[in-house]
Amino acid sequence: MGRNFNFSAGPAMLPAEVLERAQEEILDWRGSGMSVMEMSHRGREYMSIAGQAETDFRDILSIPDNYKVLFLQGGASSQFSMVPMNLLNRKGEAVDYLNTGAWSKKAIAEAAHYADVNVVASSESTNFSSIPAFDDWNLNSDAQYFHYTPNETIGGVEFHWTPDVGDVPMVADMSSTILSRPLDVAKYGVIYAGAQKNMGPAGLTLVIVRDDLIHEPIAGTPVMFNYVTLANSGSMYNTPPTYAWYLAGLVFQWIKEKGGLAAMAEINQRKAKKLYATIDASSFYASPVDLNCRSWMNIPFTLANPELDGEFLSRAAERGLLSLKGHRSVGGMRASIYNAMPEAGVDALIWFMQEFEKDRA
Ligand SMILES: *Cc1c(COP(=O)(O)O)cnc(C)c1O
Repeated sequence: MGRNFNFSAGPAMLPAEVLERAQEEILDWRGSGMSVMEMSHRGREYMSIAGQAETDFRDILSIPDNYKVLFLQGGASSQFSMVPMNLLNRKGEAVDYLNTGAWSKKAIAEAAHYADVNVVASSESTNFSSIPAFDDWNLNSDAQYFHYTPNETIGGVEFHWTPDVGDVPMVADMSSTILSRPLDVAKYGVIYAGAQKNMGPAGLTLVIVRDDLIHEPIAGTPVMFNYVTLANSGSMYNTPPTYAWYLAGLVFQWIKEKGGLAAMAEINQRKAKKLYATIDASSFYASPVDLNCRSWMNIPFTLANPELDGEFLSRAAERGLLSLKGHRSVGGMRASIYNAMPEAGVDALIWFMQEFEKDRA
């Protein structure tokens, strides 16, 4: 049985230990005589699985008691609509959004259906290779909330600092950075993330929301989009994504066993650093992203001669280094190296890049 190194942006690699554990338990979860997939979401066994996953998630992130955690479907993309629907009191209120890339833009476009969106700053003129200087942000202190994307998965742009927007609740799309390093949840009003990058399989979306922001949504909000309903029902207004929730729970246990987010951060930083060092040491490879905001999770890089892209990808694949093709808006390559990418995978990529450069530069 071979496990390749999969550099996909998402769905992405899961820890082998987690998949092995799921395999052991797939037919008979701990003597229940059932697969987790076959359990009633309201049964005693499944309630314990769901509860343990939430407890572990709260532990890992030290989530304060005045925050709810929702285990939802619909992806981070559904939150692009659910955040304005739930945080506004009525349609047309003012909100602030920062535009640092493709995901910010999608969130902005969706919010514009419900809110009066003020784009506080944009890095679009740099093809999203930078973060606009904080001093230049045109913040509105009366905004209902401020939204940003701490890690832009496509551009490979990551915040290594936390904005301070005063009393305005801060909302963050953390799909591709959550659990990669310690996080001070108390600084945020809402944090949301699709699971398929750093937490589990596709189909599960985590939302962390401060109690006081959970109130009646704007008129016409579908019941499945209503934070009040979802929070009051323990994310079980309807059938939740039970198996994805269980697998995310196994990932949370794996993170705890590895030493939590401080340990994740140390490994992630080391992996990213050596890959950037390889890119910077070479005139054959280049990073399009500003030095101060290079992502630890998604690392785009280009080859000096784009005509070699196809050969690079096919030779990498022969080595078991998969899904390195960059997003069409950036070109070149992108290596996504989330928590579950072993350091050995990054080492293998570096070794291959150096060999390819020797051959073809
Ligand atoms: C992948 C991603 C999304 C979209 O997530 P879905 O779960 O597919 O809706 C949104 N934002 C960011 C930052 C992402 O990386």
